[in-house]
Amino acid sequence: MQKNCIYLDNNATTKVDPEVVEAMLPYLTEYYGNPSSMHTFGGQVGKAFNQAREQVAALLGADESEIIFTSGGTEGDNAAIRAALLAQPEKRHIITTQVEHPAVLNLCKQLSTQGYSVTYLSVNRQGQLDLDELEASLTGNTALVTIMYANNETGVVFPIEQIGLRVKEHGALFHVDAVQAVGKIPMNMKTSTIDMLTMSGHKIHAPKGVGALYVRRGVRFRPMIIGGGQQRGRRGGTENVPGIIALGKAAELELLHLSEATIREKRMRDRLEQTLITTIPECEVNGDPTQRLPNTSNIGFKYIEGEAILLLLNKHNICASSGSACSSGSLEPSHVLRAMGLPYTILHGSIRFSLSRYTTDTEIDAVLAVMPGIVERLRALSPFTTDETPWLKQQQGMISEELKVGS
Ligand SMILES: *Cc1c(COP(=O)(O)O)cnc(C)c1O
Repeated sequence: MQKNCIYLDNNATTKVDPEVVEAMLPYLTEYYGNPSSMHTFGGQVGKAFNQAREQVAALLGADESEIIFTSGGTEGDNAAIRAALLAQPEKRHIITTQVEHPAVLNLCKQLSTQGYSVTYLSVNRQGQLDLDELEASLTGNTALVTIMYANNETGVVFPIEQIGLRVKEHGALFHVDAVQAVGKIPMNMKTSTIDMLTMSGHKIHAPKGVGALYVRRGVRFRPMIIGGGQQRGRRGGTENVPGIIALGKAAELELLHLSEATIREKRMRDRLEQTLITTIPECEVNGDPTQRLPNTSNIGFKYIEGEAILLLLNKHNICASSGSACSSGSLEPSHVLRAMGLPYTILHGSIRFSLSRYTTDTEIDAVLAVMPGIVERLRALSPFTTDETPWLKQQQGMISEELKVGS
C-alpha cells in the first residue's frame, strides 16, 4: 500500500495498531517459549497467553474458559458449524442466510452435498431478515442456526437476540459470525442467547491469521483441528503466541475505544453518505438505514461500474471496495446485493466505504472533493439508460485496459 493512502476499506482488513505491534514484538524475539512447556521459559509465555484470553473474554463479556484461539474468522466459522453438527449427529438440518460470508456459505454448500439440508433465509430490499421465515424453517431436525451479526458489505445488523430466542425455543444451537460486529457493537455473552461466536483479529487492528471462537460453557464442543491437547483439546496445534498476544491487546483497545469511536465514525460516515447522495444525482444508500454498523456505507451509483469508480478513486490514493468477485475475472455482482433484489444498475454500480478509528475528517473531505467528478466522468462515457446498453461493456473494457496498464 502506498504511503498516505486514504484507507476506507476497513471491513476488508484494518491497520495493525502500533500498540498491538509493540505488545506482540517481544513474543517474536525474546519470549519464544512454547506455552505448553514445563519449564519457566515456556511458563512466562503461558502467563501472557492467559492474559490475552482474559482480554478477549472481556471484550465479549464472556468467561475466559469460553475462548478458543483460532487462525481467524474462516476457521472460527468452520469449527463452530462442524462442532454443532458433530455434537448432534441425529439432526441433519442447518439454517443460515443468503448474505453470509463465503466462510459460512461455501461450507453450507458443501454440507448440502453430504446429507445435510440447508435453508438459506432471504432478505428484503433493505437487507433485513423476515423472522417469520426463520420461525417457519425451524424444526426438531434443525441442528444449527448460523447467522452473521452484521453484514460485511452493507453493514446491516441483524436482530441477533430476537433470532436467538426463537432458535432456543426449538432446541437448536446458535452460531453467530460476529467478525464485523465485534468492536463496533457492545457484546455481552452473559446475557446473550448466542452459543458460539466467531471473531477475527485483522478486522479489529490485530494481525491477520489469528482470531477467537467463543463457545458457551455447557455447549458440547467437538474440535475440528485434532492434534496435541492444546487449548484443552479444543484446538490442536502449537498456539500462534505472538498473534494471540496481539489479539488480546487489540481486544483491550477495542473495548477502550468502542463508545467514542462508534460516535465519531458514525458522524463521519453520515457526513460522507449524506453529502454524496445529495450532491450526486441517481445514487442511493444500500441497506437498512437504522440497523447498520456505524462505520459502513454502501452506495449504489446508477448506470456506472463500481470497479471503474474504484480505479479512479485509486488514482487519488483512496481505497474503497465493491462487493464484486473481481478476483475471479468476471465482474459478478455481489451475492449480498443480489439477495436484496436490487436493480441491475445499482448492483453493478455499488461501492463500499468502511471507516475505522484512524479515519479523519480531512480524509472524508478528500473523498467528497473527487467523487462527483468521478461519477460525472464515467456517466459521460455513455448516455443515461435503464437497460443493458453499451455503458456496461464500455466501462468493463476500460477496466480491463486499466488493469493491463497497472500490472
Ligand atoms: C472477514 C470476515 C470473515 C473471515 O475472517 P478471516 O479472519 O479473514 O478468515 C468472516 N466473516 C465475516 C463477516 C468477515 O467480514
